[in-house]
Amino acid sequence: MKQYKMWIGGKWIDAESGKTYPVYNPATEEEIAQLPLGGKADADKAVTAARKAFPIWSKKPQAERSQIAMKMAEMLRENANEFGRIDTLDHGSPTKMAAFTPIVTADRFEWAAYNARSLMGHTVPVSPDTLVYLQREPIGVIACITPWNGPLPMVASKLAPTLTLGNTCVIKPPSVDSLAALKLAELLEKLELPPGTVNVVTGPGSTVGEALASHRGVDMVAFTGSSETGKRIMSLASQTVKRLQMELGGKNPVIILDDVDIDKAVSEMFIHQFANCGQLCGSPGKFYVHEKVYDEFLEKFTAKVKKLIVGDPNDERTEMGPLASIEHRDRVEGYIKSGITEGAKVILGGKRPTTPPMNKGYYVVPTIFTNVTQNMKIAREEIFGPVACFMEKFNSDDKIIEMANDNVYGLAAWVWTKDTARGMRFANEIAAGTVWVSNGFPGGPELPWGGYKESGIGREGSLYGLYEYTNLKRIQVDLVMPTKRA
Ligand code: NDP
Repeated sequence: MKQYKMWIGGKWIDAESGKTYPVYNPATEEEIAQLPLGGKADADKAVTAARKAFPIWSKKPQAERSQIAMKMAEMLRENANEFGRIDTLDHGSPTKMAAFTPIVTADRFEWAAYNARSLMGHTVPVSPDTLVYLQREPIGVIACITPWNGPLPMVASKLAPTLTLGNTCVIKPPSVDSLAALKLAELLEKLELPPGTVNVVTGPGSTVGEALASHRGVDMVAFTGSSETGKRIMSLASQTVKRLQMELGGKNPVIILDDVDIDKAVSEMFIHQFANCGQLCGSPGKFYVHEKVYDEFLEKFTAKVKKLIVGDPNDERTEMGPLASIEHRDRVEGYIKSGITEGAKVILGGKRPTTPPMNKGYYVVPTIFTNVTQNMKIAREEIFGPVACFMEKFNSDDKIIEMANDNVYGLAAWVWTKDTARGMRFANEIAAGTVWVSNGFPGGPELPWGGYKESGIGREGSLYGLYEYTNLKRIQVDLVMPTKRA
């Protein structure tokens, strides 16, 4: 079992308290590592280091910072197997998915590297005697607070723009899945950046996270996680009016219209529902299926789910592993119980598996609910697990748009139809940051991602996402020659 240290000010160090905490393999429940139990003192130390590095790092030429980002991409690809191994070990990702993640993540650094070099400003034609130009500048020290559902990509999607655009940062990775962030720090060490440019502090959100969110030395919080934590961070950050970028929860409606290509919709929605064991912010939250195609869609979807291979994430054949932690398994099981109590019908799964190797580990079998109604907890809250909720059949486009928008979240939605114009009407009417019309792939760093309503503030990815990590300055210059002024 490995004992880890934190990365602060260019050094590997223990927590100020000297304490550590255990992390577990979610597939076996075995303890796999001890991590430093960081606290407020460690957060302070990291912010001080990041503040010290900021004037040095922010003044480097853009080409140099972009080359560092390119180097990160290269090292991620070279270390893809090791990152994959970590993802399987502490997050339970099946090996075939785990191997793919570092490659996708490398793309984030490359994309930021190229595009940061072309982030041009504007001039504004206010008067011939005055030059007004707008320039983008780094913000300062950014606290990057990330969730466990994508331990590597969630850190990278914040680190790539942070670093490339001249900011320095303190990363607070999720307590249960910090190993990928610490491995990233090992790669950063090789790049010999100014000490403190990037720091990683492990430990609980309630201490390290809160200390960062309220710290006077932090200029921005880039956060991905639940809406509840997001609200807490907003209130702490408001005391010093920090910049916020927030990627929060979702309860994403999937609307299947009566003219759908059923086979295409079933195969794509099946992947989105069960990839990463349903622990994706973009996973379907609930299915609204038109009465004319309801039975066929449900039957084909269920048949596919029955064939899903759940098991040991180290087995090459496995398509779905365990949930990420015991706390999260309990949470998902709580939602299943609540669905049953409120009168929804379980037509598949709903139980903890008992056959080896799944009699150990934090497994929940793929579960399908039908007869879900709008006010049930499982229809309103984010389950974040392998649980598909089928709402009652519908037959009116207008009514279903209203029901889809009756949602505190607004992260994403799907509409499946062969009639593109009909699909685009839904896209216009649905309040969500992303609406997929008969589509769900591909993704990529050139695409913006973010939510309406309680799903967040700002965007990640695309040029809009890069702008989030910059301040916009207006510079106004008098062009009248001193001799003419008299
Ligand atoms: P949490 O909100 O519980 O935690 C996210 C991070 O915040 C963790 O590092 C956590 O630390 C930290 N944290 C917890 N409490 C505080 C606090 N009081 N102050 C500061 N930081 C704190 O989310 P989960 O990790 O459970 O992730 C799942 C959630 O993330 C889901 O709601 C999902 O929808 C959302 N998400 C959204 C995405 C999007 O793009 N919109 C993408 C991916 C996930 P610790 O681990 O120590 O608790």
